[in-house]
Amino acid sequence: MWAWMACSSSPSVERVGFWFVTRLAKENAFESGDFMMVPPNRVLRQDQQQVVPDPLCLVWACRRARSTATTLFLVHTHIAQDARFSHIDEATERRMAPHVMSLSGSRYFGAVVVAPSEYCARLWRPEDVELGTPTAIDIRD
Ligand SMILES: [Zn+2]
Repeated sequence: MWAWMACSSSPSVERVGFWFVTRLAKENAFESGDFMMVPPNRVLRQDQQQVVPDPLCLVWACRRARSTATTLFLVHTHIAQDARFSHIDEATERRMAPHVMSLSGSRYFGAVVVAPSEYCARLWRPEDVELGTPTAIDIRD
């Protein structure tokens, strides 16, 4: 997966990017689309626990998802950890999900965490937002 390659190309610093995907008819199946890394000068905070993109970039990404009828996935790296979503990720996504869904016009919001040798993904569906718990999905090609 090229989003994984893009994110793992600079293993010394946490990175974040936007992945625009098209949902297929099959349950939780997605077709890969464009991936865009957030430029370093648009990352507000970047450390081993957290990487925070400029909210304006996020709004831009939501609008792009809306105009291209895609679902936005937020991709970020964990350079010194497992590809496991942290508590910070959990809280951030829970807060973001309803806004991203609303701004992007998609019923879904996805997240991918990339570690040096693995990655994992999950999806926030409307029912997941209500419960506060996302659904793990398989995005392997
Ligand atoms: Zn994280």
